[in-house]
Amino acid sequence: MRIVLLGPPGAGKGTQAVRLARHFQCPHVSTGDIFRANVAQGTPLGLTAREYLDAGDLVPDEVVIAMVMDRLASPDCEPGFLLDGFPRTVAQAEALDRRLAAMDTPLHAVLCFEADEDELFRRLAGRSAELGRSDDGKETIRHRLEVYATKTRPLVDYYMHRGLLGLVDAVGHVGEITTRILEALRVATHRRNGGSSTNGNAARAVPRPATPAPRAAR
Ligand code: AMP
Repeated sequence: MRIVLLGPPGAGKGTQAVRLARHFQCPHVSTGDIFRANVAQGTPLGLTAREYLDAGDLVPDEVVIAMVMDRLASPDCEPGFLLDGFPRTVAQAEALDRRLAAMDTPLHAVLCFEADEDELFRRLAGRSAELGRSDDGKETIRHRLEVYATKTRPLVDYYMHRGLLGLVDAVGHVGEITTRILEALRVATHRRNGGSSTNGNAARAVPRPATPAPRAAR
C-alpha cells in the first residue's frame, strides 16, 4: 500500500503510522523523525532544519522534497510506504504526484486525521511536559496549528478532488482509531476500484463514540 497520513500536529499520526506500518509490513517514513534524527546527529541537513523545527515553521519545500524523494528511492519502499508528515504543502504534493506518476505507482489513499483545536492543543501541551520537545512550547504549538491551517489544510481539497481522501476521527482509544483507519482504507480502496461512496468524495470512518475516550498519544 502507498498511503499518506495527513492531519494537524497532535492528531496521533505518528502513533497510528507505527501500527499501520506493522499491519501492512511497509516502511514508516516520518519527515519529522528524519529531521529530528539529523538535528540530534548534527548533520548538515539537521543544521539547516533545526531553526525551522524550533520555530514551528516548515522546512523549505526544496529541502524536504529532495529528502523524501531520496528516501522513496530506497528498495524497501518499492512494495509500498506510509508517509507521515509529508506532503505538507501543495508544492510537496505536486512533487510527490510527479514522482509517483513517473514510476506508475499511484497513491492508494490519503487519510486525514481530524480532532478539534482545543483537543490538539491539550495533547501537544501534555507531550511538551512529557518529552520536552523543543517545538512544543505554547506559542510554538499555536504557530504550528496556524501553519497547518494555512499551508497543509488545503491538501484536504487537493486529495478530495483526486478521490483519494479518507477522513478519520482521531479522538478515542488508539486501537479504536486503528480500526477506523482500516475501515476508511477499505472504503477508499473499494471506491478507487470503481465502487461508490455514500459520502461524496471523501470516505469517512466510523463516527466518534458518545462517551469520551482517553486521548490518543502521537
Ligand atoms: P512532525 O513531527 O511531523 O510534526 O514534524 C516536526 C517538524 O518537522 C515540523 O514542525 C517542521 O518543522 C518539520 N517538518 C516535518 N515534515 C515537514 C514537511 N513535510 N515539510 C516541511 N517541514 C516539515
